[in-house]
Amino acid sequence: MRYRSTNGKAPEVSLGEAVVRGLAPDRGLYVPERITVLPDSFFSSIQNMSFVEIAFRVACAFFGEDISEDELRTMVNESLSFDCPLVQVEGNISSLELFHGPTLAFKDVGARFMARMLRHFSGSGTLNVLVATSGDTGSAVANGFLGVDGIRVFVLYPKGKVSPIQECQFTTLGRNIIAIEVDGTFDDCQALVKSAFVDDELNALMRLSSANSINVARFLPQSFYYFNAYARMRAEGRADNLVISVPSGNFGNICSALYAVRMGLPVKRFIAANNANCVFRDFLCSGNYEPRPSVPTIANAMDVGDPSNFARIWDLFGRDIAALRSSVSSVSYSDAQIGETIRETLDRCGYLLDPHGACAYRALREGLEPGENGVFCETAHPAKFKDTVEKITGKEVIVPDALKAFMGGVKQTVPLSPDYYEFRNYLMSKI
Ligand SMILES: *Cc1c(COP(=O)(O)O)cnc(C)c1O
Repeated sequence: MRYRSTNGKAPEVSLGEAVVRGLAPDRGLYVPERITVLPDSFFSSIQNMSFVEIAFRVACAFFGEDISEDELRTMVNESLSFDCPLVQVEGNISSLELFHGPTLAFKDVGARFMARMLRHFSGSGTLNVLVATSGDTGSAVANGFLGVDGIRVFVLYPKGKVSPIQECQFTTLGRNIIAIEVDGTFDDCQALVKSAFVDDELNALMRLSSANSINVARFLPQSFYYFNAYARMRAEGRADNLVISVPSGNFGNICSALYAVRMGLPVKRFIAANNANCVFRDFLCSGNYEPRPSVPTIANAMDVGDPSNFARIWDLFGRDIAALRSSVSSVSYSDAQIGETIRETLDRCGYLLDPHGACAYRALREGLEPGENGVFCETAHPAKFKDTVEKITGKEVIVPDALKAFMGGVKQTVPLSPDYYEFRNYLMSKI
């Protein structure tokens, strides 16, 4: 399979090149030149298949031309060593819990899959993975890559803007994981990473790769979740008129779901649920894409002012806003509304939402029409945002053992300013 850039000004590349490069040289995002439609027989028996089996079939459709079935099966098995159960919250609304992996957030699957694919393609010599995080990406990537031979990971995060629990999940690991504490915003971190990738001189000296949701090896496997959601809903006889609500920041997760639909997955429509950072919603309204600096919210993994996967979504819909509007709508909620939703849902349904899932859940409560079945992605365990959630509900949040284990470690970081030359000098000193 060849991969092309969404900007159309860079040569097409193989899967291996797309995975190792991350971002295309014209600053576009790589997308597969073709999307394979899965056969009807797959969809008619999907409710009898396990998550791992479903994911394997989908992985073959994406990567089967480039990686052997045996290897893909191993990658899938190693990445999906946990379940993503569907929990009915009320009536026709169910939560797809994507937080049962090692760092209790949905990015684990993509990060673990990508670590294995990068190792497959990286050859000899050290590969340096640069990743900007607003919280959860860093922990998922750091843990997905921890101890992987020949790969060193630099996690850039905005100082003081991630929760203490998130922070300890990537600053205490040591080994091949280096945490860089940037005195700036998430967008500054993302800009530093993007500048490094287009710095020819640096790239001649160091092999760089990315692990943000822009990487095809992280981005495409997220679609596994949606096939699984459909399968579990179908098993319950509730898969008709399916509406899926996805809490969105960089829009990688929802974009992978839109790819799943192109592969034949029967979903009626999607909702991109946002916090106060609502560039995408405003784009759907006005038709003008106007990125702006992110504002901090209590759903901080979605504090993104210029969602990188917007380019892939726009490309997928052939830059046709009417087509996009007919598949995806978008809503935005303030911190006060997020808090109100968490409190009210716990009282009424006994279900504790995290601030991200709360946006997606509320979008279904407000937007689901008669005859539709709703699934929302619950992307993080509420204990990852313990202080915030406890302040809202007034009740203690029980921290799972997996999370407690991280909190005993010693924080080690490299403090830097948002200045690119400082970052560059630091990287040069690590050659
Ligand atoms: C990353 C993240 C999101 C947003 O996902 P995107 O793919 O960036 O849109 C939502 N919720 C949580 C908990 C996250 O960590």
